[in-house]
Amino acid sequence: MEIDLEKENKEILRRYRKLLRDAKPIMQEGDPLIIKKAFYTALEAHKDMRRKSGEPYIYHPIAVAQIAVEEIGLGTTSLVAALLHDVVEDTSLELRDIKRDFGPKVAKIIDGLTKISGVFDSRSSLQAENFRKMILTLSDDVRVILIKLADRLHNMRTLDSMPRDKQLKIASETIFLYAPLAHRLGLYAIKTELEDLYLKYTNTERYNSISQKIKQTQAARDKFISDFIIPIKDSLNKAGLKFTIKGRPKSIFSINKKMDKQGIPFEQIYDLFAIRIILDSEPEEEKSDCWKAYSIVTDFYKPSPDRLRDWISTPKANGYESLHTTVMSGTGQWVEVQIRTHRMDDIAEKGYAAHWKYKEAPNTTGKATPKQNGLEQWIQKVREMIERNDYSALEFVADFRQNLFNEEVFAFTPKGKLVTLPNGSTALDFAFEIHTEIGVHCLGAKVNQKLVPLSHKLNNGDQVEILTSAKQKPSEDWLKFVVSSKARARIKDYLKDDRKKIAAEGKSIIERKLKQIKKDFNAESLQKMLAYFNAKNAIELYIDVAREIIEPKEIKRAFEAPVIVKKITEESIAINPDAAIKQIQDSGGLVIGDNLQSVDYSYAKCCNPIPGDDVFGFVSVSEGVKIHRTSCPNAVELMSHYGYRVIKVRWANQTDLPFQAGIYLKGADRMGIVNDVTRVISNELKVNIRSILINTNDGVFEGKITLDVQDGRQFDRLCMKMKTIPDIISVSRII
Ligand code: MN
Repeated sequence: MEIDLEKENKEILRRYRKLLRDAKPIMQEGDPLIIKKAFYTALEAHKDMRRKSGEPYIYHPIAVAQIAVEEIGLGTTSLVAALLHDVVEDTSLELRDIKRDFGPKVAKIIDGLTKISGVFDSRSSLQAENFRKMILTLSDDVRVILIKLADRLHNMRTLDSMPRDKQLKIASETIFLYAPLAHRLGLYAIKTELEDLYLKYTNTERYNSISQKIKQTQAARDKFISDFIIPIKDSLNKAGLKFTIKGRPKSIFSINKKMDKQGIPFEQIYDLFAIRIILDSEPEEEKSDCWKAYSIVTDFYKPSPDRLRDWISTPKANGYESLHTTVMSGTGQWVEVQIRTHRMDDIAEKGYAAHWKYKEAPNTTGKATPKQNGLEQWIQKVREMIERNDYSALEFVADFRQNLFNEEVFAFTPKGKLVTLPNGSTALDFAFEIHTEIGVHCLGAKVNQKLVPLSHKLNNGDQVEILTSAKQKPSEDWLKFVVSSKARARIKDYLKDDRKKIAAEGKSIIERKLKQIKKDFNAESLQKMLAYFNAKNAIELYIDVAREIIEPKEIKRAFEAPVIVKKITEESIAINPDAAIKQIQDSGGLVIGDNLQSVDYSYAKCCNPIPGDDVFGFVSVSEGVKIHRTSCPNAVELMSHYGYRVIKVRWANQTDLPFQAGIYLKGADRMGIVNDVTRVISNELKVNIRSILINTNDGVFEGKITLDVQDGRQFDRLCMKMKTIPDIISVSRII
């Protein structure tokens, strides 16, 4: 295809001018010049490059800058950095060129972006290590992370042109880290879009069907909302409140999650959307206006008493402020109503940067609100976490994710000091949050004057007094009921130190014993003991000895037993992952169900794929290639941690081997329904029932059937037929 360069250049300029227009409100004197310089530098540097889609590469940095400005609300420095974000990595320009031309601030951000660019490109521990580096930059300059998110968002929006295996890998990383990160930074709109795009590429069918249904029900929703607001509109006006009302549907991703979790179809989700009342308030009237609106809404609609959420008095740690209530509508349906001001709405959608903008504005009340500290506190915690250098990178990522997902619980010390902890925290977490020494010696607690054990889960508003004893010390058990990363880390530290001490004891027992039986303590004798006692490593051995799991007199036997040398057989190397992956990828991916393939593969038990399913291969170290469905619950973890071991897989056209699949049926119980079900199955050729489990309870019929089917199409056909059986309400696949 011929490329019309002139047309392309016009399009580049058009996009650049739009960026300039949208950036106008954030620009200060002199900014247009520097932006122009950045644009032309990037344009020149990327001039011979094209994206996978064939488009000029410069579209990408322009789009990233556009997102940074329009959707995150960042300023000129970020805009310039976004335009230049790929030049150091992909072109001949160097960091010192950037520093010379754009100053140290921009250079530092780009340095951060370049360093973290390969976060997932390599092996798992290295990935984690890189991720740790990425988070490290968070404490330097949050803008690095924000631009990285803009970069990721644009890559997700343009994922179509990537090959399938890359799509899966990128989508999984996104759901594993970037979406939670966006959430934690309060970038709600971006988080939602990332999640939806993830679903689009991993479960396309479901994504399409939900988004279609959302569109189809739009008119009904609009009608519902306009009916709903009729009675309250007048009162809001009379109270002198300026407001807009909109109805926001839930995201496709969260609808899907709900459908899966509760096993219900789209039609049965009652809280498909929330009604949002956005008030135009003077800064000092914000809180009272919101409560005024609340009072008006609940004058007309009865609220559910346990569904009131006040994030205005105590905002979430990511800065979110809003008043939520769930009320009974005139049509007998529960509806969530969110009440907030424009400022709060802006922060809720755009997050950190919007938050910052308001923070920098002159403070009208003169008081620092707790919300302004929430996010900074979090960043402070992350910083503490990173600075512990003895922490393995993988542990770090696990803990960090834990932190990302957690909502908070608020508790108080006896003196009334507020302590914020991750949701699900226990009295022990509270103790460690106050001070490590208090945590280490924590014996129990008094929560609201009542004596409770360490493992007691805290609720919002609890007043907690920690009881300590000098004799108390941490044990492995403690790790089971702490959730905060701080408590976890401190307990692990303690146990590690403790293990070191115990191991040293065990070691000296062994040394004495060996002296007694006149053996040298060296590598060879250690090897013998490890083999004989089947210990993983020397530390384990020492600890077992110290704890008398291995008695000293047994040690002698290690030297009497015949020497067993483990031979490395061909089987035990089974697969050299690197070589295998390369071989498979070179041949264009694994074709399964094809006898000619020399690679060993098997179907993963966690998701039981059948022909026709969307699948990928995962090279396991000892069991060949495992085939998983892309919707497998483990897929995200596998792909994001071990992306390099994921291989492309496609189904051969024909296969005679049957596959196991499960069907879950629900319906109204009646005579003969089981017969009807089995008749449908046995009418289908080559389908064999492996097991069938029927439950009836209070007139409800529930069945779980495991069958051998030929492929996904046959399975779908079977499900369709089942749905036509009278009184069957739902038919779904069991993973
Ligand atoms: Mn990029």
